[in-house]
Order: sequence, then C-alpha cells, then structure tokens
Amino acid sequence: MKFILLCTVLFLLSSLGLPIPLKPAPWGSRALSQMKNYLDRFFPPSNKVGDQTLEERIKTMQRFFHLTVTGKLNSETEEMMKQPRCGVPDVMDYTTFPGRPKWRKTYLTYRFINYTPDLPRSVVNEIIKKAFKVWSDVTPLKFQQVFSGEADILIRFARYAHGDSSPFDGTGGILAHAFAPGLGIGGDAHFDEDERWSEYNRGVNLFLVAAHEFGHSLGLGHTNVRGALMYPIYYFINPEAFRLSYDDRRGIQSLYGPKRDNF
Ligand SMILES: [Zn+2]
Ligand SMILES: [Zn+2]
Repeated sequence: MKFILLCTVLFLLSSLGLPIPLKPAPWGSRALSQMKNYLDRFFPPSNKVGDQTLEERIKTMQRFFHLTVTGKLNSETEEMMKQPRCGVPDVMDYTTFPGRPKWRKTYLTYRFINYTPDLPRSVVNEIIKKAFKVWSDVTPLKFQQVFSGEADILIRFARYAHGDSSPFDGTGGILAHAFAPGLGIGGDAHFDEDERWSEYNRGVNLFLVAAHEFGHSLGLGHTNVRGALMYPIYYFINPEAFRLSYDDRRGIQSLYGPKRDNF
C-alpha cells in the first residue's frame, strides 16, 4: 500500500505563472526538462537498478501515482506533476544484500528438515508452496519441493541456539530468519518454534512470515516501505487479501527480471 501525503503549502508548480499554451501539441523541450526536474527531485534514479532511461523513470512515476503507464509525457502525467505536494521524494526503497547475491538458475528446490507441530504437515506444505508462489508469480523463478538429498533452500523450525550463530529468543521478538542466496546455509529459512505458527491469525501467520523470509532467501534485504512484504516488522493481514507490493516486485525483478510468459 502506498499513500502519498499531499502537503499543500510547500510549493505550487502552477503558481509559478507558467503560461498554458493553447495548443500544447507535441511536448516541447521545456515540458520535458520540467519533467526531468520533477523526476530528479521526487524520483531520483536508483543506482540499484542501473541506468534508467527517461522513459523508464516516467513509468516509475506513473506507476507510483496509479496513472496509465506509458513512459511518455502526456497530459495526465503533466497534471499530476502540477499537483500541490510534499517535498519528500517518493522513493520506494527495496534493498539487496551487499554484493547482490542471487541464484544463478531459475529452477530452485526446497526441502523441510523438520515440521512445526503447530499445524498439520499438509497445511504447512500448502502454506510454504503459496509463499514461494508469491515470488514465482513475478519472476522467472520456479520452486519445487524435494523430499531427500540436496536442496537449495532448507526449511527448518528450531528454538534458541540452533547451530548458526543466530539463536532464536523464545516466544515473540524474532520470528524467523533466512540467509542470502549461496551454497551451504545460503538460502535456508529458519522459523522460531517457540512461536505459535498459524494458518490464520491465532498466533503468527506462517504464510506472511515465510513469504518474507523467502524474499531474503532470494536476495532481498529489508525495505523501509510500510506495507511492503520486505518491511521488517510483522503485522497480520488476511493472507487471502495479500498482494505483493510494487516495492517488493521491483526489488525482486531487479535481481531476476519479470516473469517471462506473462509479459
Ligand atoms: Zn537459524
Ligand atoms: Zn526480514
């Protein structure tokens, strides 16, 4: 969920007294340079996604404001640019890990080391499958559960010290953690067994936490965007109503690109 606080006092583009041309036919270089200034100020280019063309940056802005995404300067976009607003940039800040570790393959396997006794195994299997689907829906990645041998992502429920120098802390506090992509423990996701894992909200919702942890398993760090899946604080939302935020999607696609068949 992205909310924009429109502050009415900071500056009024329209009060600068720019004449409105009667026939604002093709967008002149003046309009384009205004667009650029606007983007520089409120949608600074992110070095995390490399060099972006002006078109891509306009698309970013259009998506942010829920305009028609054309990548072109049009009247709808220009209108939005003139709206009274707050001076704080509209940055949607996903992060990756140092060195941007990611999987160099698209087909990934996962295996349970153990299960939580809080839920039936079949339910846990379904929840975890759904949590991976959050990410496979928007990337070329595919996930397959395996039942023995090697797997890229090992899933484990554990309490207190469990052999990886990041002990859990009993009920509450830390709920889970996961490791950035890599060999060995890389990609693995651990859940604190002292939580009461739940399919709904009678305890900690396993789907929401697992989907977040798998974001780490795939290479995403935290974001400061409230409402994004990769926001570090847990809060319950109905999993049926869950939608991956634009920030999360942008983050994961910066590593793996978009899903191919649907684009
Ligand atoms: Zn651990
Ligand atoms: Zn996290």
